[in-house]
Amino acid sequence: MPISLRAVELLGCGLVPLNAKTPNCPMMLSTHAMVGAAIGTFCPSQIGLAAVLGFCSHFVLDAIPHWDYPIRSGSLTPGRGLPIRFDRALLEDLLTIGADGLLGVAAAIILFGFSWSVLLGALSAILPDPLQLVHDRLPHEPLLALQRFHRWIHSDKRMNLLPFGITSQLVLIMSVVVLTRATHHF
Ligand SMILES: [Zn+2]
Repeated sequence: MPISLRAVELLGCGLVPLNAKTPNCPMMLSTHAMVGAAIGTFCPSQIGLAAVLGFCSHFVLDAIPHWDYPIRSGSLTPGRGLPIRFDRALLEDLLTIGADGLLGVAAAIILFGFSWSVLLGALSAILPDPLQLVHDRLPHEPLLALQRFHRWIHSDKRMNLLPFGITSQLVLIMSVVVLTRATHHF
């Protein structure tokens, strides 16, 4: 895809209302990871609690209108469940999503220090999005109920990347980092 077209796709051209046919697009995984990791710092000796709270935090963040990057491969688009097709779109999506998730988890560990609660909090906060893909291929309970809830709670407004989309996520991440580090006197 020409770079200019990709830019238009990323920037968008308005606050786009989602409808029932529009798939859930993920909020940046790094935002979810950072919030989940921050929660983990508050329950250092309760790994299970960190995982559960991290998982729940995903849905709270999804309920806030946000920017999310487009997913181009039908194989990775939640709600489509198309067969895996090894093409350029899949490769680009895997690189974008992988870098997003890995950077978020790595940055959280660098900023909050490693503990199993921090790691599990971050990973659990990301988990609901890949579970959407599992649901598309294995549409059974409890994934059916989880997917219904995920779609219901996900904001039906999508922000543009600029000026507020990326800014709001950066402000959220920075606020979480500053508050968490200040609370623990890191
Ligand atoms: Zn989500």
